[in-house]
Amino acid sequence: MPESFAPPARTLMGPGPSPVSPDVLAALARPTIGHLDPAFVDLMDETKGLLQETFLTQNRLTMPVSGPGTAGMEACVDNLVEPGTTVVVCRNGVFGDRLRQMVERAGGVAVVVDAEWGRAVPPETLADALVEHPEAEVVAFVHAETSTGALSDAETLARIARDHGCLVVADTVTSLGGVPVRVDDWGLDAVYSGTQKCLAAPPGLSPVTFSDRALERMDARETPVQSWFLDVSLVARYWNADGAKRAYHHTAPVNMIYALHEALRRLQGEGLEAAWARHRRMHRALAAGLDALGLAFVVPEAERLPQLNAVWIPDGVDDAATRRRLLDEHGLEIGGGLGDLAGRAWRIGLMGEGARPGPVLACLGALEAVLD
Ligand code: PLP
Repeated sequence: MPESFAPPARTLMGPGPSPVSPDVLAALARPTIGHLDPAFVDLMDETKGLLQETFLTQNRLTMPVSGPGTAGMEACVDNLVEPGTTVVVCRNGVFGDRLRQMVERAGGVAVVVDAEWGRAVPPETLADALVEHPEAEVVAFVHAETSTGALSDAETLARIARDHGCLVVADTVTSLGGVPVRVDDWGLDAVYSGTQKCLAAPPGLSPVTFSDRALERMDARETPVQSWFLDVSLVARYWNADGAKRAYHHTAPVNMIYALHEALRRLQGEGLEAAWARHRRMHRALAAGLDALGLAFVVPEAERLPQLNAVWIPDGVDDAATRRRLLDEHGLEIGGGLGDLAGRAWRIGLMGEGARPGPVLACLGALEAVLD
């Protein structure tokens, strides 16, 4: 029989997963109970309430999808897109392109608005595309592009989309909990996130929220959602129903809901605004240190995500060998570049529990040692 797995000590400062606090890990290790047990159902309701507070929404349909961020992404796209639906997809990195692929797999017509990698999506390019494509019904964009560290102006993009009568799909996988995300104030219709970034829980759940406008569109569908598992009208009977009407859909990952509940409880205890401010503060400290080490940012300052810091790899430095040394000699994980930035940039995460002075100092110290 193999030995029981003991993970090595790591400081997680990549693009996710982020470090998980001992309280959240302890919640995860509590005894599993039935997924229709009245005590668990109460926990589900409380978790929904905590998610509404985190997304800053009153949306009735707010819940964690059982699956990683990509599952929430697919739930949003598949439920709003039918064969022939035109969707304007803003693409300024890897995850915007993933949205495009999903739209096309759902039978939709993707109109891609390309923006430079490492930059926010310019709102005027979206406006131009919507003038050119009056048939568009949905706009999709990534608020915080983890592949580059660029933060787009979700509020303005959503306003433009709504002015053209479109529903808004927003990816908040890396933004939620780290920078402001105001679902109701900004008029976002289908929003997904992930547990493993600034929410500071392990990977495996994707919080989603749908506006009433999105629900109306789903009710009016002419074709069934292509995925049975992610058909929100079916899963809502489990997450969004009261009392005896609550029906089995799939077996929820019970212990992961314990962990998410604990992480959200801690976030509310700190306060959302305080958590956003902490991410900004830690980013400023890290940026000052990176600057002192001579590492230059990929993204211009005004468009930078505090929680994902992409820096150019200095000339003559071996990407893979350096990251391996960080891991082996310092127990530090940072991310390599994705897509266009592969081999050219490092991505340093300051997410959730990673956005604390200890990890920032450990990261700067380790980088200093390996780049010496
Ligand atoms: N969207 C963004 C912006 C992400 O950063 C990620 C993951 O890093 C995803 C979607 C997909 O999430 P997951 O890897 O949990 O499926």
